[in-house]
Amino acid sequence: MKAYQITQWGAPLKEREIEIPAPKGTEVLIKVTACGVCHSDIHIWDGFFDMGGGRKVTLEDRGLSLPFTVGHEPLGEVAKLGPDASGVSVGDQRVVYPWIGCGDCDVCKRDEELLCNNPITIGTRRDGGYAEYLIVPNAKYLVPYDGVDEAVAATAACSGITAYSALKKQSHLRAKESLLIIGAGGVGLAGVGMAKAVVDAKIIVADIDPVKREAALAAGADEVIDNSDPDARKQLLGMTNGGPQGAIDFVGAPVTTAFGFSVLAKGASLVLVGLYGGAVELSTSLFPLKVNNILGSYVGTQQDLVELLQLIREGKVKPVPLIKRQLSDAPIAIQELREGKAVGRFVLINY
Ligand SMILES: [Zn+2]
Ligand SMILES: [Zn+2]
Repeated sequence: MKAYQITQWGAPLKEREIEIPAPKGTEVLIKVTACGVCHSDIHIWDGFFDMGGGRKVTLEDRGLSLPFTVGHEPLGEVAKLGPDASGVSVGDQRVVYPWIGCGDCDVCKRDEELLCNNPITIGTRRDGGYAEYLIVPNAKYLVPYDGVDEAVAATAACSGITAYSALKKQSHLRAKESLLIIGAGGVGLAGVGMAKAVVDAKIIVADIDPVKREAALAAGADEVIDNSDPDARKQLLGMTNGGPQGAIDFVGAPVTTAFGFSVLAKGASLVLVGLYGGAVELSTSLFPLKVNNILGSYVGTQQDLVELLQLIREGKVKPVPLIKRQLSDAPIAIQELREGKAVGRFVLINY
């Protein structure tokens, strides 16, 4: 089979001809028909994450060796079952829930595999979907997506549940309150498109790019602001009568997190999602004085994926623009994403 692999950190992905893996034990072999190209694939491709203050975590230190196949948003058809696999049949179409853990520890056993200390995430820890086939350790990580476009379903497994699970952390907000969404790029825009299905509050979107602010309005934002405007904080406080009752930072750059925290109403929380990286100085006394919180949110649970696919089926989510590319275009697509040329999300298609 063909796989599009990292053979050297940061160098163009290579098309390689490798053996189709044979499913062992409970494993299931999936013939990949679609796989989203995600911004975090670029971090894996580079081989490190920026932790701020000049600190880097390399993927080699984390035990990842090359060659490696990225792609954590795959879906496809069940091609073969391992001798102990059950729950699916050959030909079933399924989206892969990629954020899997060891399966044995306490958090895994209560279906919060996301919190496992020994994750085996598909496409970031074990070979992913930039290939014609991939192995999933167990059929329980395969979710039906009938009634949902395959490109939409593929991206639901990452950007979709990332946005959805962040919004769920603000689902307590009431109709008269405001939720500030910072960043209307890929994941942020997905969040804007599903915000009304999850949160009752008024949705205000902050982005420095006028094109993205337009896209946010088209996706259902009630109001937009330019957070690079020196008056942005003042405008927002006026618009919301003292600050939003919740905020989600889909960028995660020092400047956006500082902005999000600085505008919060008393009692409000900022959900930090974006992985831009860096470090930010925050006044410690403001946390108690304003009863503010900052929460991290990372992708979502398999239950989130099931719920989100249902909202999509019911037509409650405005889809983000998706651009279908052939699987063989993987090396070019990821390069174009890095260069910021993608208007919408790339999904690799293999048929
Ligand atoms: Zn992703
Ligand atoms: Zn575990």
